[in-house]
Amino acid sequence: MSEKKLNGQTALVTGANSGIGEGVAISLGEAGANVVVNYVVNPDAADAVVEKIKSLSSNAVAIQADVSKEDQVISMFQQVVQKFGTVDILVNNAGLQRDAKFHEMTLAQWQLVIDINLTGQFLCAREAIREFLRRGIVPERSIACGKIICMSSVHELIPWGGHANYATSKGGIKMLMQSLAQEYGGQKIRVNGICPGAIKTPINQSAWDTPEAYNSLMTLIPYDRIGVPDDIGKLAVFLASDDSDYITGASMFIDGGMTVFKGFSTGG
Ligand code: NAD
Repeated sequence: MSEKKLNGQTALVTGANSGIGEGVAISLGEAGANVVVNYVVNPDAADAVVEKIKSLSSNAVAIQADVSKEDQVISMFQQVVQKFGTVDILVNNAGLQRDAKFHEMTLAQWQLVIDINLTGQFLCAREAIREFLRRGIVPERSIACGKIICMSSVHELIPWGGHANYATSKGGIKMLMQSLAQEYGGQKIRVNGICPGAIKTPINQSAWDTPEAYNSLMTLIPYDRIGVPDDIGKLAVFLASDDSDYITGASMFIDGGMTVFKGFSTGG
């Protein structure tokens, strides 16, 4: 990347020591941002992402926090402000699945997914917006006062049997994202969603790690390939930069066409 579009800005990426979060953190670092690599387990993987970003000549630091815990999120943001002075970009990425048939789903499975995928985004977005409002616009860095990117999913649109807790969390993220875009647009805070289709990461390994599974997955994807974290990283850089200054409240689907419903190409 020749132009460092995020020079001087600080980005916090949650769940950044694996999969999409890792790819996004590296892309933001490559674009010149200082990057906070949030993680909850596996500090070695977080350190490896930090080292990779430093090798691209950007600043990076790993901070442990469980995004579903209010005190840990508040403390993480305090550490970020202490280290980098402020935060300009939040990528609310941390998430997980706990799949079960709905009639067999335990309250613990439901609650964990809602706590991390949805309440985690609430807690981090609230701290980010408090910091954006405290700091105000710094025109040398960005036209906007702050940018929030919410990692949603095609499942904010496509219902998903056997994954009701996960799909519900993503539907909730869509409304959270749009409500924040509406509430804080006047203060020049932009809030958008990224809605990935199938991206090759540990969360969905069983959907791509055998030829049978991969071929079955391809029946859903017109563009006929699985996505990779770098696909998402490039979109995150765009949404974090002033190139997307007139985009707020948008769900950006990045799914090889999954949401144009391949099954209807020959029938329906
Ligand atoms: P992943 O399992 O590789 O990464 C998830 C990350 O979130 C990990 O780093 C994990 O440790 C972290 N995490 C989990 N609980 C946490 C907590 N309480 N606090 C902080 N971090 C926590 O999976 P991924 O595919 O990279 O998923 C990243 C995001 O992308 C998720 O929100 C997921 O729902 C979304 N997504 C993924 C796909 C896909 O196909 N991979 C598709 C649509 C949406």
